[in-house]
Amino acid sequence: MEEFELVIVGAGSAGCIVANQLINKTNFKVLLIEAGPSDNNPVVKIPLGYGMTFYNKKLNWNFYSKKQKNLSNREIYFPRGKVVGGSGSINAMIYARGLNTDFEEWSQNKNDIWSWSSINESFREIEKHISIKDHSSIINKIPVNDVSSLHHPILKNFFEATKEQRVEFNQNLTSDTINQVGHYNINTRNGYRFTSSNGFLKPVLNNSKLKLLKNCIVRKINFNQKKILSIEIFHKEKKILVKPKIGAILCAGSIMTPYLLMHSGIGSANHLKKFNIDVTIDSPQVGNNLQDHIGLDYLYKSRVDTLNKYLGRWPGRIKSVLSYAYNRSGPLSLSINQGGGYINWNSKNKFPNLQLYFNPMTYSISYKNKRPLLNTDKFNGFIIGFNSCRPKSRGQIYLSSNKFNDAPVIDPNYLDHYEDINDLKCAFDFIRKISKSLHLKKIIDKAIDIDPLKSSDEELIDHFRKKSTSVFHPCGTCRMDDSIQNGVVSKRLKVHGAENLWIVDASVFPNITSGNINAAVMMIANRATQLIIEDLKNNN
Ligand SMILES: Cc1cc2nc3c(=O)[nH]c(=O)nc-3n(C[C@H](O)[C@H](O)[C@H](O)COP(=O)(O)OP(=O)(O)OC[C@H]3O[C@@H](n4cnc5c(N)ncnc54)[C@H](O)[C@@H]3O)c2cc1C
Repeated sequence: MEEFELVIVGAGSAGCIVANQLINKTNFKVLLIEAGPSDNNPVVKIPLGYGMTFYNKKLNWNFYSKKQKNLSNREIYFPRGKVVGGSGSINAMIYARGLNTDFEEWSQNKNDIWSWSSINESFREIEKHISIKDHSSIINKIPVNDVSSLHHPILKNFFEATKEQRVEFNQNLTSDTINQVGHYNINTRNGYRFTSSNGFLKPVLNNSKLKLLKNCIVRKINFNQKKILSIEIFHKEKKILVKPKIGAILCAGSIMTPYLLMHSGIGSANHLKKFNIDVTIDSPQVGNNLQDHIGLDYLYKSRVDTLNKYLGRWPGRIKSVLSYAYNRSGPLSLSINQGGGYINWNSKNKFPNLQLYFNPMTYSISYKNKRPLLNTDKFNGFIIGFNSCRPKSRGQIYLSSNKFNDAPVIDPNYLDHYEDINDLKCAFDFIRKISKSLHLKKIIDKAIDIDPLKSSDEELIDHFRKKSTSVFHPCGTCRMDDSIQNGVVSKRLKVHGAENLWIVDASVFPNITSGNINAAVMMIANRATQLIIEDLKNNN
């Protein structure tokens, strides 16, 4: 195998940005290793291909959580991208920075590396705000596409109903408004999904300093004392050993990064010893601090047409396919999530406690040869969904054995904290209030499954326990903190106790942000790589 200075594990949302910066800003030879295949696949490129990647075993790790004691003992589905572009290649494409208050705990003062002003700057560096007509090429940026003009007119009913509750309408949601609804921006360009792979990896893929290995899984990092000796890569069952001259950066995501660390002897010594894994670094927080948004959709049959008319039946589907084929527009060019917002509804905190979704369609899971599929319903319908912005429950990732191919145990420990239950009650109250508004009343035919207006808080909590799902934002499992007692990496993203190992992905979040976290992951990747490059240059 050729020699490389740096190895990046995982070509996901973060990994693609890390690779780009290392190639553009240093002379290092870089090896990027990705477990999954190329993202050059129509179901990845077409935005509404979402439904087809959701359970796709070739592009998705298809994890399930441990049975959740507070969710009727259910195992919760945890899709994760296993493809170039990572979860960014299978996600719903919403671009939401989160709120500036989300980052208050990331910094001690205004000059901190992770102060809001440097975070804001990092967001600005990666974003290119575009509209649907803007088809110009995008390099080293992520498009933040305002597709509101293509959104379904039924969204107005939702906006009007929330206005009656004094929630401000912002065409594009902002980072500093406490009560707001609006249109979600998405990461698309010219009707195609546009990930950090498109914006950051592809522009440097032909550079001779970069090598991308696809369909290769890193199972272990071997150490000599605290320094990386070699990295074990598997292509099918063939083992390849790589010895990076400088070190490695883990970008394998919030599930696989702590899992890989534990298999490499970095984790809580007691836990590793249980599985006869030699302890390289006793790092008690590896896998802890798992946070995720858990949410629920209320489905309504609608009196007026919704996207189900186009996507739930063949004549509409054919029309949508033609509109996409000829103009790259129509529902296939959009996310399933169109409108929503953040509200502080009866929370004792100063920041919003609820994120809202309004989707002009409904979908259900059906089974084809036991294979689950997401299908649009045939009747006209829409969804009002919600999740707590910053849930307080904390979970864990841990090992079930010392065999890498046995899946990690994922225990999000949902609804463990009483404040998360309180947020549910706040959401019920808000949804009851808006569904009484004339603007929604006139389009609601009937609630499917359960009607918040006719159910008590206790009944709705019980229903939530039975029906809620992950919103797919796990993070925090290798938390950044300057002490090994409280975190896994320093604020400069170096793994505590290791000489030449860094982590850059959703696992380093100290706390979950309000909203969909991909924007914050990419912001971190941009800022973190600047810090790592600075440190590498200073050490030379
Ligand atoms: C279904 C779904 C919908 C979502 N919707 C949204 C949304 O609309 N908006 C939003 O902001 N966020 C959304 N998210 C979340 C967001 O996409 C993720 O939080 C983000 O992509 C995580 O980035 P990451 O770099 O940490 O990990 P990932 O992007 O998951 O990248 C990790 C990469 O590492 C690879 N890898 C893992 N282990 C190994 C190994 N051992 N060896 C080699 N490679 C490895 C993986 O295959 C993967 O490609 C969604 C996620 C999902 C799954």
